[in-house]
Amino acid sequence: MPTLVMKFGGTSVANLDRIARAAKRVALEVANGYDVIVIVSAMSGKTNELVGWVSETSPLYDAREYDAIVSSGENVTAGLMALRLQEMDIPARSWQGWQVPVMTTDAHASARIEEIPTKNITAKFDEGMKVAVVAGFQGVSAAGRITTLGRGGSDTTAVAFAAAFGAERCDIYTDVDGVYTTDPRITSKARKLDKISFEEMLELASLGAKVLQTRSVELAMRYKVRLRVLSSFEEPSDSAGTLVCDEEEIMESNVVAGVAYSRDEAKMTLISVADRPGIAAAIFGPLSEAGVNVDMIVQNISEEGRTDMTFSCPKDQVLRAEKAMQDAKASGAINFHDLVADEGVCKVSVVGIGMRSHTGVAAKMFKVLSAEGINIKVITTSEIKISVLIDRKYMELAVQALHDAFELDKAG
Ligand code: ASP
Ligand code: MG
Repeated sequence: MPTLVMKFGGTSVANLDRIARAAKRVALEVANGYDVIVIVSAMSGKTNELVGWVSETSPLYDAREYDAIVSSGENVTAGLMALRLQEMDIPARSWQGWQVPVMTTDAHASARIEEIPTKNITAKFDEGMKVAVVAGFQGVSAAGRITTLGRGGSDTTAVAFAAAFGAERCDIYTDVDGVYTTDPRITSKARKLDKISFEEMLELASLGAKVLQTRSVELAMRYKVRLRVLSSFEEPSDSAGTLVCDEEEIMESNVVAGVAYSRDEAKMTLISVADRPGIAAAIFGPLSEAGVNVDMIVQNISEEGRTDMTFSCPKDQVLRAEKAMQDAKASGAINFHDLVADEGVCKVSVVGIGMRSHTGVAAKMFKVLSAEGINIKVITTSEIKISVLIDRKYMELAVQALHDAFELDKAG
């Protein structure tokens, strides 16, 4: 029997009615002839509640206990989904991560999946079980402790199962009906994409389009797992949702697939640091040790052996970054005249595999922004992406203007 993985996010299993609704979807796929592996999230809001209880009880909590506690939300939904399916006369049972077992690293709260043995579940399918309901987001370390995969991790569970079982597809049911050219809350012209390549999705996911956990897309790309993002609130149809797939499957597309943004960024500049070999390592080493996620980096032209170094990071990491830099200065590892933080910036990016073969995308982007009077503070590019740092107050305007200029409301 071909295998299908179906993942239901928190809003799709938010209460018993929705679980029943999701179970009906599962029943349709069983009727279509699939052995189904259902991956469930916790009911919406549950994980946040559990995380809150942990911090309230123990601010500097033991991460192993955090995992034991926050993983429990998924156990409840898995059991309820299995019961619901049984009520519909569909042979189903639940599996917690450790029962499969989903083997992970021991990096508690952000563990990585190392192996998913298929033996136990396959044996049950062979005995006539139709649906394996697996608690997402969790696993077990070699030491036998429960682990979790980081927030949003059940997407990654789903893709990992699809890869391990050679599933025909991995359907991710969520509260949006697919992947859009940009956030529909920012422009009503945002258009749902029928297909998007893994690479574009990866850029969009990591740039802040919160539809899929970034790691799940990385995994899907590595194992070529076809992913479909769709809403559990819409009527079933073959064209529903967005297919995330290999670029070979996409015949025609726009040069730019989407415009992404990340609202809460900060720009920090170290003024007058010595321009000498090793200076970048001396700055970015301590930042990384302090857990600061540095994104863009610009080094100015040096004058008389001194230069300015600018980098961006999430706004809520500014204090940590400042402390790391002041400590490095105090220890003599680096020297700078001043440290200036600008907490009022955001990042706007255009993404598209078409950029590999089309020139002029960057020029067009800069022209559009300048026509709106928006000053660009930092620019970075990759093969399929151009990102700019601009004042946060222009974010909506920039996204709308770029969406218009690249005609993303029209299919390519
Ligand atoms: N329940 C977990 C979270 O809220 C995992 C998930 O839903 O993907 O982060
Ligand atoms: Mg999610």
